[in-house]
Amino acid sequence: MLAIKTVQQFYSPDQNILRLLEQFRQMMNRCIQIGIAENVSSLKALSLKAYRQLAAYDVMSYYKMCAVSAAVGVLRNYRKVARQGETRMPYVRRLRVTTCYGFKVQDGRLLLPHRPRETIKIPLTPHVRATIAGNLIRSVTLTPDKLSLAYAKHVSEVRPQGFMGIDSNLDNVTLATTDGSVLKHNLCKATRVKSTYSRVRSHIKRNDVRIRRHIANKYGRKQREKVKQILHHASKQIVDEAKRRHFGVVMENLTGMRRLYVRGNGQGRAYRGRMNSWSYAELQRQIEYKAHWEGLPVIYVHPHGTSAKCSVCGSRLARIPEENRQLRCPSCGVTVDRDVNAARNILARGVRFAPIALPTEAMVQEPATDGNPESRWERVNLKAYAPKS
Ligand SMILES: [Zn+2]
Repeated sequence: MLAIKTVQQFYSPDQNILRLLEQFRQMMNRCIQIGIAENVSSLKALSLKAYRQLAAYDVMSYYKMCAVSAAVGVLRNYRKVARQGETRMPYVRRLRVTTCYGFKVQDGRLLLPHRPRETIKIPLTPHVRATIAGNLIRSVTLTPDKLSLAYAKHVSEVRPQGFMGIDSNLDNVTLATTDGSVLKHNLCKATRVKSTYSRVRSHIKRNDVRIRRHIANKYGRKQREKVKQILHHASKQIVDEAKRRHFGVVMENLTGMRRLYVRGNGQGRAYRGRMNSWSYAELQRQIEYKAHWEGLPVIYVHPHGTSAKCSVCGSRLARIPEENRQLRCPSCGVTVDRDVNAARNILARGVRFAPIALPTEAMVQEPATDGNPESRWERVNLKAYAPKS
């Protein structure tokens, strides 16, 4: 199995890099136009239609192939959205180039040919050099201020000795494992960062729309970076835990999740905003690539009903008045924390596809302590969730 990670650094671009970025952007837009006019969106068809039209661009030919392939991605998304209603023709404004060909790392520098016999040279930071040492570099992405390298290694898949189901919501990530332990990781900080920044943004009162947008974007970027850091911390702890116990990971397949939080479903605007901006996708992405890096299997399951059904007997759960986070099963009588219940349902769905069985109640063990005082895991006693007899 090939596992992939990325590492980033800042750099200052020279004229050649800026020219390459601008040409790449133009080539992408040209390909998008052709793709829409000729109604093609497969890589092969678009290459045939567009490649010759890119002859005028004075760059190495593999950037043309990469531009076609990037345009295919944009066209696919466009068609998906266009099917649902009216959309504007996609147009790329962002300067960004990604290539998987032609580059080399030599003497601590990234060498990137851009025209025949002309090479862009970017010095790599010690951190980047140390990170990529011994790994294969798969691709290079440049923006006007950032350079990121995707690097890969071959890992042998770990035979899992168990699984952990992961449920995430606004304030926490909850894990339930096949050996019966339950772990919660607090993410209030990330939610707080988001609400602080959206408050800051709502107080920006400038008349010029462009300035207002610029400031809002700046805060948006800062917020994303901050939240990303918090998520990195959480995903690292989760995957460390999985690695320590040789556990595979089960998560909900949340594609289309955001559609649940649209107007008219009874949730307030502020709540929708927080949910929409909440980076489920980012957290999952991080957990997935970090788990793969350790050779741990990742399983995705259908999310429908994971929070509504009893994880013991499958009946519909009822709310307990005045108990915000607790749910009660009217048929088997269990009282359960709603996050724990969801994590257990996710786990049970994943384990159905896995070659090991869920332990029966009798086999449930007390969660092991990892002896790390820094650990922010909140260990939950399982007995509190056992059915009342
Ligand atoms: Zn039940």
